[in-house]
Amino acid sequence: MTNLLQVNSLSKTYGTHRAAHDITFELAEGTSTALIGPNGAGKTTTLSMLAGLVTPTSGSILFRGQPKPDIRASIGYLPQYPKFFPWMSALEFTEMAAILSGVEKRQALIEAKKTLEFVGLGDAMKKRVGTFSGGMKQRLGLAQAIVHEPELLLLDEPVSALDPVGRRQVMNLLKELQQKTTILYSTHILNDAEEMTDQLLFLRKGILVENGSLDDIRKKYANPRILIDFESNEEAEKFKELSPWTAEREKKQVAIDAVKEGVGTPEVLALLNAENLTIRKVELQTASLEDIFMKVVMEE
Ligand code: ATP
Repeated sequence: MTNLLQVNSLSKTYGTHRAAHDITFELAEGTSTALIGPNGAGKTTTLSMLAGLVTPTSGSILFRGQPKPDIRASIGYLPQYPKFFPWMSALEFTEMAAILSGVEKRQALIEAKKTLEFVGLGDAMKKRVGTFSGGMKQRLGLAQAIVHEPELLLLDEPVSALDPVGRRQVMNLLKELQQKTTILYSTHILNDAEEMTDQLLFLRKGILVENGSLDDIRKKYANPRILIDFESNEEAEKFKELSPWTAEREKKQVAIDAVKEGVGTPEVLALLNAENLTIRKVELQTASLEDIFMKVVMEE
């Protein structure tokens, strides 16, 4: 896979505050990457540096191996809070964005119409932006970012401000765009990343703390535990005592760390059967995406 973007030791310091520190990663062409972190983690700062809007304090960004690409033509950028002129129509705004990104004037109108159809604003393209709902504005924001068919799309929290319907519409558009271009988008919701991602970059306090595929991250942080619910406290205690594996008891429930103890549910079920203990249920519990988020980006 061709390397589209190479980010080396990128840092941005405001006064003494390190908004982004020593960030290194690559984006392969045609992949989708989610930049994940809580508020203030440095997502916007990182995306702004890649979009050429913030000058890095140190480090380098190479686009197709070049340090100074034609950013306007090569990159599409959707800011976290896109601003529009309320008196302009969606078509005028998108046409203007196309011209600013280097599309020839006559072609700009054609591309703007095509893009607005694509984002589902075909019927509203002549309406003033001031009358648009939040979801429509976000789709217009997406239109201005893609109208010039950029090689790289940078999206800052593209669905955070939307209600579930708007969120679904924009996620579906992003999934279609994923077929055509390379995408880097930020989010603080890991479930969003699950829908559309080849690579996850976790930021904590400006530092890239984890980088990998969702599968890798799940495996690393799954923390599988076998949970057994007994009929009574006595039976739970009896099991804990005779269990060859270290187990923790909380009233009628016993938990075993499956990885640490090297045990699976079949062995546990076999023991329960052999000892004739009555249980309500046995389950293998793994960390949810939100648990993983908390563990990776919130813990010290
Ligand atoms: P959010 O999810 O809230 O948008 P974020 O991950 O995008 O957060 P950034 O906006 O990149 O985080 O901010 C990272 C840190 O840098 C924050 O502590 C923020 O206050 C600080 N910061 C960002 N921009 C500036 C600035 N222009 N001047 C001073 N500090 C800044």
